[in-house]
Amino acid sequence: MRFLITGGAGFIGAALANRLVREGHHVRVLDDLSAGDPLRLDSRVLFTRGDVKDVPKLWTLLQNIGCVYHLAARVSVPESILYPRDYNDVNVGGTVAVMEAVRDAGVKRVVLASSGAVYGEQPQQPVSEKSIPHPDSPYGVSKIASEHYVFTIGALCDIETVALRIFNAYGPGQFVPASHAPVIPQFLKQALGGGSLIVFGNGNQTRDFVYIDDVVDALFAAAMASGVDRRIINVGSGQEVSINQLVEKVARATGRKVSHLYSQANDGGVSRLVADISLARRELAYSPQVDLDEGLELMLALDPQFRVAVDQ
Ligand code: NAD
Repeated sequence: MRFLITGGAGFIGAALANRLVREGHHVRVLDDLSAGDPLRLDSRVLFTRGDVKDVPKLWTLLQNIGCVYHLAARVSVPESILYPRDYNDVNVGGTVAVMEAVRDAGVKRVVLASSGAVYGEQPQQPVSEKSIPHPDSPYGVSKIASEHYVFTIGALCDIETVALRIFNAYGPGQFVPASHAPVIPQFLKQALGGGSLIVFGNGNQTRDFVYIDDVVDALFAAAMASGVDRRIINVGSGQEVSINQLVEKVARATGRKVSHLYSQANDGGVSRLVADISLARRELAYSPQVDLDEGLELMLALDPQFRVAVDQ
């Protein structure tokens, strides 16, 4: 099959692109490199630098494409609170641009990378797709809006659409930006650097950490599965882990004596979030293979940024 991946030089996009070309598919990537790195891509992936809102560029890249994975986005919850206009512009505007171009190019299917962040605080855990979203950040709102645009334009224009609500993805190749870094690579970096782990809030808040290969399995299946048109599907591990438990797991995996500090600079976000993955199991034959302890070991073994520190 022939795929276009927007945001394909990012953490999830590059892992997906490399998996698809390894399996013999033809893959194009569009990424503005605001957070991505084309060096992560297998040489068989055709990379184009550009903005996802550039519809003429999308038209060119969409020639003969059967399925689009739309991943290009700004991805930080705290950053979205500081810059909501940017998040609306890139995440919502980018999605509308992709759907407009897809409509004109005759693409058959679009898979949207949505997020578990749409749910916000939910009394019922694990959270199923039937729960009413209460996003608590502009990022979450931008993902809900993206889902609506994808499904609505898809239905109007006879394009199959699927939205995967991905929970907290982690794994080798995950970027650690200077600010607003995702918690797992941040903790590993702090632990290996001999510093204290900074825990926001009281650390009792829980999350669902899902290993990158499992996310890629779900994305892959979402392009191939039948009967998933206009479905929203959770993609997580189904395992609930508190940030305090994560601190212990990072200490065990790194073998370092790890100290941690609590910071009230940020309340740590929603109190609980874990995915009900029964729909993904049913519709995508999804079955997460890597638990958090194993995933941390794999990150330390496979990611060069951590391997150097582990060897010291
Ligand atoms: P990432 O930042 O590594 O990837 C996003 C990519 O989009 C980057 O390579 C960036 O350069 C590119 N991009 C940003 N703005 C762009 C623009 N205007 N034009 C073209 N490219 C642009 O993040 P990721 O973790 O790989 O996330 C990929 C997708 O999955 C995003 O849509 C994100 O919202 C979604 N998602 C990620 C997670 C997670 O835990 N990583 C969880 C839920 C959903």
